[in-house]
Amino acid sequence: MNLYTALRAGFPADLDSTAIDADGARYRWRDLERGSAMMANWLARLDLPAGSRVAVHADKSVEGLLLYLAVLRAGLVYLPLNPAYQASELEHFIQDAAPGVLVCAGRNFGWVSKLAFQRGVRWVFTLNDDRSGTLLDRASQMSDVHGPVAREAGDLAAILYTSGTTGRSKGAMLSHGNLLSNAQTLKAYWAWQPDDVLLHALPIFHVHGLFVASHGALLNGSRMLWFDKFDAAAVARRLPEVTVFMGVPTLYTRLLQEKPLDCGRMRLFISGSAPLLAETWHGWQARTGHQILERYGMSETLMLTSNPCRPEDGPRRPGTVGRPLPGVGLRIVGDDGRACAGGEIGGVQVRGPSVFGGYWQMPQKTAEEFTADGWFRTGDVGRLDEAGYLTLIGRSRDLIISGGFNVYPAEVEGFLNELPGVGESAVIGVPHPDFGEAVVAVITPRGQPDPAALIAALKERIAGFKVPKRILVAAELPRNAMGKVQKQLLREQHAALFS
Ligand code: ATP
Ligand code: MG
Repeated sequence: MNLYTALRAGFPADLDSTAIDADGARYRWRDLERGSAMMANWLARLDLPAGSRVAVHADKSVEGLLLYLAVLRAGLVYLPLNPAYQASELEHFIQDAAPGVLVCAGRNFGWVSKLAFQRGVRWVFTLNDDRSGTLLDRASQMSDVHGPVAREAGDLAAILYTSGTTGRSKGAMLSHGNLLSNAQTLKAYWAWQPDDVLLHALPIFHVHGLFVASHGALLNGSRMLWFDKFDAAAVARRLPEVTVFMGVPTLYTRLLQEKPLDCGRMRLFISGSAPLLAETWHGWQARTGHQILERYGMSETLMLTSNPCRPEDGPRRPGTVGRPLPGVGLRIVGDDGRACAGGEIGGVQVRGPSVFGGYWQMPQKTAEEFTADGWFRTGDVGRLDEAGYLTLIGRSRDLIISGGFNVYPAEVEGFLNELPGVGESAVIGVPHPDFGEAVVAVITPRGQPDPAALIAALKERIAGFKVPKRILVAAELPRNAMGKVQKQLLREQHAALFS
């Protein structure tokens, strides 16, 4: 079934009720249906070959969401890109994905269209966050009635490029069936209520904002309070009106600085995309009385695990990402390829209806990341506790082997973050003549950190081989758009520290 048809079935009976409230602009459910129909009719007019990609490099807007729905309806493949990407980055994605259509912000049309036309993109339209641009001009002349193109569960719906935290972004190919099954699972597990209202302040070029958040509200017929950008003060002001909020950890730490933080009607706070510090979890509970529900997923698999929502499903355990969602198989596998017994640390492997079909134009890489028996290697390292909750320890690529000993950065970071003078920390391995790799920590200051004192304090708490040889102080840690620390950049920056 076309994913749009399933989402549309979740719209409420009263199509004149408000679907999205975007800074005073009110969109009814009828507007979502009609707006996306007009765009779908325009896309159909372009006579693109089946499976054509529609790449979108535009600022967040409700019309951008309608464009996504239109691409689904038209049976094409949606390909969102971070609008912050500059020429060299965009060039790579255009080359890699060879889209038939590119939609960009009007202010970038000059350089984007040149780049696109040179690389064989047939159509370039503009879409601005103030409801202007050539895409809407064209679509407004089309009929507002459109029957979604028939799609099978296995047909490609979207290509999402990974965040590029560990290297160059890879295009994850997601089908209508992948997306719908995950949306239905989350609707049930997070117990969406008919009168829920979602505050949507995440970007929509990524799984979290585009699928987890938007699908949740659409499939459930729930109203969204929409922010094109995250502004902590503005979001804090509107929190009392909503019942569900989703954020990456930095959104929570920024909201914690706001006063007041009134969550009168709130039902559920959800966090994901990067590790939520226990300090933030406890700080949030102290300020609001709410326990943030942390969940784990990735572009290639959509959501995999979640802390419980309903009390009957169990308690929320801070520091863990919860249990495998219904339908998800999850196992921890050691270096020798054998499944780990309870509590042991190993690679996280998964399978299930939301796991992607493969990386776009990377058959070799796809084959490498699946085991012979069909499980996907997530690249994350973790362990399961006695109740089946997963704790993520880090990424296998970030694992440090120093003098033959395994060091898990997250463990060292956990101890460092507790020490006076430390704001945030990132522990990395850098080449070292004796040890192969040496443990190095980069910290942001909170007050006046003294690296020598920090090293001495760590030596009392953890084994010597885990203690950083050097602790460097930086004003901030390099993060990508999803708030993830880019350790690869840090490793490159400090590669020559011991040479
Ligand atoms: P790339 O694959 O290009 O290096 P990426 O893995 O960051 O980038 P995404 O697919 O956006 O790209 O992110 C998925 C990853 O995010 C997961 O593999 C995991 O490492 C991390 N992640 C997601 N949720 C959580 C969470 N709750 N806690 C810790 N890490 C998380
Ligand atoms: Mg990844």
